[in-house]
Amino acid sequence: MSQVTTRRRALRPSGKLLQEDARRHHRALILQQLFGEGPASRADLARSTGLTRVTVSDLIAELIEDELLAELGAPAETRVGKPPTLVGLREDATHIVTLDLSVDDRLTGAVVTLGGTVTHRDEQELAGAKGEAAVALLHTLTRRLVEATGARVLGIGVGSPGIVDDAGTVVDAPNLGWSDVPLAAGLHAAFEVPVYVANDANTAVLGEHTFGESGEGGLMLLRVGTGVGAGLVLEGALLHGHHGAAGEIGHVVVDPAGEQCACGRTGCLETVVAVPHLRRRVEASNEPAKELTAVGEQLGAVLAPVVGTLNLHELVLTGPAELLDGPLLTAVDTVIRQRTMPVTGERLVVRTSRLGDDVVLLGGAVLVLAGELGVS
Ligand SMILES: [Zn+2]
Repeated sequence: MSQVTTRRRALRPSGKLLQEDARRHHRALILQQLFGEGPASRADLARSTGLTRVTVSDLIAELIEDELLAELGAPAETRVGKPPTLVGLREDATHIVTLDLSVDDRLTGAVVTLGGTVTHRDEQELAGAKGEAAVALLHTLTRRLVEATGARVLGIGVGSPGIVDDAGTVVDAPNLGWSDVPLAAGLHAAFEVPVYVANDANTAVLGEHTFGESGEGGLMLLRVGTGVGAGLVLEGALLHGHHGAAGEIGHVVVDPAGEQCACGRTGCLETVVAVPHLRRRVEASNEPAKELTAVGEQLGAVLAPVVGTLNLHELVLTGPAELLDGPLLTAVDTVIRQRTMPVTGERLVVRTSRLGDDVVLLGGAVLVLAGELGVS
């Protein structure tokens, strides 16, 4: 039970609470409690949320009506008198459609329950499609996913490569040939449910924060794929940055004499760590472990100032395990500790994610859970 508790912590609301948002906020308090701690009685919920019994009963009636909660009967150990009825999250009645657009050559999607269980998967080959053609294939895949769930769809969550603004417009995603594509608006018009689109690394770090093994404290997730990007959850909130591009570490130059990068510069981190480069280097070598260690050392040197500056608790690498989980991870860990103060390394955890390839899909579900229910 305690593991469930540590796995699901609320993200701090980033805006000021308006008076008219109070009811929504109170609903979120109850849902977050049940999401994080499991079923509870109305009296327990009043105690843990600080709301009155009347307010709790009122909101629970509304949430049962909305098919988000269900009465589960009395707990097993009944004491003297009438046992309290437990209420819990109703995972079957409402589903989330989630999409990961960051995989090379294909779009992947899933139907996910409110509790983060994947009930259905599907994918769509891109076959080189870019621009409007890629948007059309995204709509095709989304339609199949919506049709596959027999349940009400709470919303659609999308993790897209590139820079994504607050309105869910993909400002720039070279791999998909997208520039100012209003992805959220287009999907919302087609499917008439709430749509949330975020950068894939930001989506992934939310997936790890809610459904992974992350503890308290700053979390940085580095995604190693066709490109390289990072997402950060600091002090309980996703870091957006001044221009919505926080975590864009892939195009920091690490070797001015290095390879040409797709962005036009030379020797970006991506030219060293992105999967195609990494794979080529390992395949060309007689000593692959040595190559992975060298890359890990270079990556550690780039990340050390970030980890030290932010005093992060966890650094999570996601991508192909056969490349990342071994000499590379060990070298990253070692170099960061060598290059930062002891206090930085003391509680630092450098690891891979047990969510594997699902980290963006589950993050897409968190975008919807957080946006619609205030739960994360
Ligand atoms: Zn670059």
